[in-house]
Parts: sequence; structure tokens; C-alpha cells
Amino acid sequence: MKDGFSAQYRVTDGSNFHLESFNTAPPEHLAKDLLTKRKKSLVKRIAKLQDILYANDRHALLTIFQAMDAGGKDSAIKHLFTGINPQGCEVHSFKRPTFLELDHDFMWRSNIRTPSRGKIGVFNRSYYEEVLVVKVHEQILNSSKLPKELIHEDIWAERFEYIRAFERSMHQNGTNVLKFFLYLSPDEQKKRFISRMKNPEKNWKFDPNDLYERSFWGEYMQAYEEAIQSTACQDSPWYIIPADDKPYSRAVIADAVCQHLASLNLEYPTLSEEVQSNLQSYIEQLQNE
Ligand code: ATP
Ligand code: MG
Repeated sequence: MKDGFSAQYRVTDGSNFHLESFNTAPPEHLAKDLLTKRKKSLVKRIAKLQDILYANDRHALLTIFQAMDAGGKDSAIKHLFTGINPQGCEVHSFKRPTFLELDHDFMWRSNIRTPSRGKIGVFNRSYYEEVLVVKVHEQILNSSKLPKELIHEDIWAERFEYIRAFERSMHQNGTNVLKFFLYLSPDEQKKRFISRMKNPEKNWKFDPNDLYERSFWGEYMQAYEEAIQSTACQDSPWYIIPADDKPYSRAVIADAVCQHLASLNLEYPTLSEEVQSNLQSYIEQLQNE
């Protein structure tokens, strides 16, 4: 695994994208120890780069995590950001919209949670749910508070247009958006569900509704494919992460984040010449207190 190995999973042009060209499993079996070591060294580098991002205070990074249930979003986020200064990160989980959120346009709750300059934002699910779960279960749309005349067949194309414009505007203002789809197989999901049910410490993670959602697998994959086709671009790429192997998927995500931060070529800000030339006298002033 060379630096930048995550590039093979990056989609920067959605026009020819098909999920079937990607795999849910890694290309080869790699030992867990090796992957964990690799991930740890990448996270160390991310922590260093994040420190510079924060000091520099011009750019921000928004990472988006999307997956079917048990895809490993939570643990990927935990592993990726363990060791990074908490002051430099902002994590938000997006659940079913609240009454307040439903009283606004579909991007509102995301707009108010975008990361401020110098920070890495993490969206655990995101506005993409509006073209995924809402598309798979159209009754959500019908029972929303949207005016009826605005619910028509072009609504998905309109939402994609809005999302593309939002991400372009983020980029033009210094925030890149990296989108991770943790691509899981139905077999692996089944194993993880059973393990959640059998292990008392993992029971709490099991929700019977997850089985219902699983029965819409084909519809979800189609919705993911269309979302990626419509929103993958150079500045806001999607990464299709083989999620059947958790240590591998974490290493890929860490590599992608590390590569992106390194590509910004940021440096710590320097003091003005005047302050710089007076540093020695400030030191003496303190020492002579
Ligand atoms: P876990 O992996 O722990 O299950 P999760 O992200 O699935 O985490 P849950 O609380 O289980 O969290 O589920 C959140 C649910 O909210 C998901 O089923 C998701 O599809 C749904 N959701 C998120 N955004 C929207 C939305 N805009 N409209 C309708 N449902 C949404
Ligand atoms: Mg869930």
C-alpha cells in the first residue's frame, strides 16, 4: 500500500460511474495488524496536518459518511479522529429530521453545521439522505411539509442540482467536500446484524427496522448509484470504500483524508517581521520580570 492508494476508489466524474465496477471486498487479503499500523501512522499525519489547517485558518474540510446500516460509519469516524485535537473537529449525526428541521428547506440543517475555517467537519449521514432514503420511500416526501405542487418527478434532478451548487460554493469558499460511501455487501451486513443480536454489548445497536430497510437493498443501491453519478466531481469526489473489511476501509479513508490535507500545501503562519525581530527582547522582558 503506497501513499495515495485510496485514489483507486475515488470518483471524480460521475458520468460513467457504475457501482458494479467497484467491490465491497479489498483486492487482496492484508493482515489486520498491518492495516491497523498503517491507519495509525496515517492518523498521526492527519493530526499534524490538522494542526496546520487550524493555525492557517483559511481552509476547512467536510467529510461525509454514507452507508447502509452496519456499514461501519461510526467506527470509521471513531478510528479516524482518535488522536486528532477535538478542538479542530466537528462531528454531526443526521437522523430523521426533527419538526424544526422539517420547517426548513432540505439543506438547512446541513448548512448551519458546515465546519468553520481551520476545522475538519464530519457528517455521519448527511443531506444525501434526501436523495437516498427519501427516494427509496417516497411516502416520506409526501408526508413532508413541502407544498404539494413542488413534489413532482423532477424533484431528484432539482435536488442534485442544488447539492452540486452547494458543494461548488463550499469549494469556492475554501472548504472541500470529500464523500465516502462505505460499500458493504448484503452478506456482510447479515453477519454484522447477527453479531449485534448475539453479543449483549452490541444489542443496543440493533434496530428491527434495519431488517425492513435491508429488504430495499436493490432500491438503495440504485439510489446510491444515481447520487454518485450526479454529484461526483473533481473538487468534491466520492470514494467507494470496500467496507466488508473494517481495518482496510479505515486505512483507505485515512489515506484519502491525509492526501487531501497534504495537497493543500499549508504552512504554519509566520509572525510579522517586526514581531519576529523583537522576539529576543520579549523573551528577555519575561525573564527579567
Ligand atoms: P447506526 O449505524 O448506529 O444504525 P444510523 O446512522 O443508522 O446509525 P439511526 O439512528 O439508526 O442512525 O438511523 C438514522 C435514520 O435516519 C436512518 O435510517 C436514516 O435513513 C434516517 N434519516 C436520516 N436523514 C433522513 C431524512 N432526511 N429523511 C428521512 N430519514 C432520514
Ligand atoms: Mg441505523
